[in-house]
Amino acid sequence: MPADSKAHQILKFMVESKLMALEQGREEQLFFERPKLLVAVEGKLRADALDPARWLTNGLLEQFLDSRKVSLLARLRNAGLKHRPVIGSNDSKGGKGIQRTYWLDVEAIPPDELGEQVLDFERIEYRRTEAGEVKPSWLLRMVFSNGELKNRSGRGLSLLILVLLGMAFWGLYLLAGFWRVSGLSEPITLRQLIEIAFIALCSWFVWKNFFRPWIELVDHRVVKAPQTMLAFGEDEAEIEMHCDSAKNQWTRFVRFTGDCPLCSGRVLLMPGKPEHSLPLVGRCSESPHAHVFSFDRTRLSGVYVGPRSE
Ligand SMILES: [Zn+2]
Repeated sequence: MPADSKAHQILKFMVESKLMALEQGREEQLFFERPKLLVAVEGKLRADALDPARWLTNGLLEQFLDSRKVSLLARLRNAGLKHRPVIGSNDSKGGKGIQRTYWLDVEAIPPDELGEQVLDFERIEYRRTEAGEVKPSWLLRMVFSNGELKNRSGRGLSLLILVLLGMAFWGLYLLAGFWRVSGLSEPITLRQLIEIAFIALCSWFVWKNFFRPWIELVDHRVVKAPQTMLAFGEDEAEIEMHCDSAKNQWTRFVRFTGDCPLCSGRVLLMPGKPEHSLPLVGRCSESPHAHVFSFDRTRLSGVYVGPRSE
């Protein structure tokens, strides 16, 4: 983060001197006396009129580095480094004769700061609601007790049969309709055309809201629950299929939420379409198309997948 301040210029001079020394094969510690720094940064002419102790006050360089600690630490972690730069100085008050001396040093980053999540703007943690917190619609509540359903159980079987029968009946109904229309010898009237369009619309609605989620659930493990399957007043929720420790498959109504690491908005699971190929992504309610995160069901975490600024 370039800055035009005095502290930045001093540090830049120290770093450039150090790099030059290393290029010449000199590896010893470089010490910079305060008057020497003043001359190097301000030039001989201006330095004569300035008091080194007032020009470079105690703690100025340390404060400058400290104010950039957060972004600096993020860069170091990205680079895989375990040390951070510090300013070394002797304790001399800088009186006549003995001048305060500075040098560049490094120290190990404390382990608690190394693993700090707050600095990571790219990662998100999700939370899963407890069983029974998300209420399904009244019809599904008869099958799902406490929002959960064991797949290999009487209730699980009845749901499977219900879905399969429903699909079979709907398919037969459509087939019968096609049969009737194709058997007509006279031209189709406008009324019949509207009827066909209406049935097509209904089919799409029924497929999307009652059948498709169950079919996708087997492959995707988590799908968005359609509003028609949720109790009145329940907002966004998901249906999840999971295994318990005894290898029993369960289906349950849950809601995954997270806090946006960029703006602290509420992140909910939404379809990845149109700009992502992932079926489900975490979208921030404050900025649904910019603050986008992937979703890992088992680790309850995700990474930023939104647009890149560069
Ligand atoms: Zn956000």
